Amino acid sequence: MSVDLADILAARRAIAGIAARTPMVPSLAVDGDLLLKLETAQPIGAFKLRGALNAVAAVPDGAPGVTCCSTGNHGRGVAFAARAAGLRAVICMSELVPRAKVEGILALGAEVRIAGRSQDEAHAESRRLAREEGLIEISPFDDPLVIAGQGTIGLEMLEDRPDLAAILVPLSGGGLAAGVALAAKAIKPSIRVVGVTMERGAAMFASIRAGHPVEVEEVASLADSLGGGIGLDNRLTFALCRDLLDDCVLVTEQEIYEAMQALYYEDRMVAEGASVVGIAAMRAGRLPAFDGPVATILTGRNVDMITFTDIVVGRGIRLGEVEVKGRGYGA
Ligand SMILES: *Cc1c(COP(=O)(O)O)cnc(C)c1O
Repeated sequence: MSVDLADILAARRAIAGIAARTPMVPSLAVDGDLLLKLETAQPIGAFKLRGALNAVAAVPDGAPGVTCCSTGNHGRGVAFAARAAGLRAVICMSELVPRAKVEGILALGAEVRIAGRSQDEAHAESRRLAREEGLIEISPFDDPLVIAGQGTIGLEMLEDRPDLAAILVPLSGGGLAAGVALAAKAIKPSIRVVGVTMERGAAMFASIRAGHPVEVEEVASLADSLGGGIGLDNRLTFALCRDLLDDCVLVTEQEIYEAMQALYYEDRMVAEGASVVGIAAMRAGRLPAFDGPVATILTGRNVDMITFTDIVVGRGIRLGEVEVKGRGYGA
């Protein structure tokens, strides 16, 4: 089982017409040049639609439906893709998932199964549905079709800007980073692909460090879409990220907070914490020098609006044990 450029080109054909071909625009949120690939403009507000559409397109005729576990954007993507294909979708979530996210998925016509108090228990439920009811389970990242779908972002970025020297990719389970790195390096071997993630709870970073998949404690973060493990039985994304990423950079919650403000005030854009880690890394001077233009992916806009509003006006944010200090933009 592997993924190559041909799979990514096939994914592009499979998702065309439903997933948007998103624009890439210059940002004013950093000193220096940075391009933003606007996956916030996808119909579900996040890039995960690409992988979900590609995986759903491969579901065999006669299958009774699809299932997945998710805390947010993957569930939305699978629900949207299943509805477009006329398939039943059952999204498994833990009791801790906010009501608004459950409602967003119900509004797309999917069933929601609340199972247990953690992502692991939700995952056990989607596995059970696959085993007992024959639903096709779609992993949020560790699936060749999902990786190929996310890789279509890399194709578009290099088509629009063949001169790119580096791509900064928000990193969690690594489906996005693996797909984008596969596509970009197949087209332009000299390009640098850098994973960026939050300092606390970064499972892929810790796994690459350790040389094998490890578990990290899941903690609250402004980049909530980057939380969760990579699976101790990881099949694909661990090895792909280890082999293809040129670097992996961490940013603090305070840096994510300030990057969300900068994106709002300078570019007039709303995005989740997970989306702005590339901007945060650049603003904090955490990146090496690249000899050419740099781009990052604004991966999603599905931020809790109360939290977002607090950040915009400079109020402090409490994340479990951690406190992000309030600070007005530019103050
Ligand atoms: C899922 C997600 C990511 C990370 O993608 P992985 O493939 O899990 O690394 C980044 N940003 C947003 C908004 C996401 O939903």
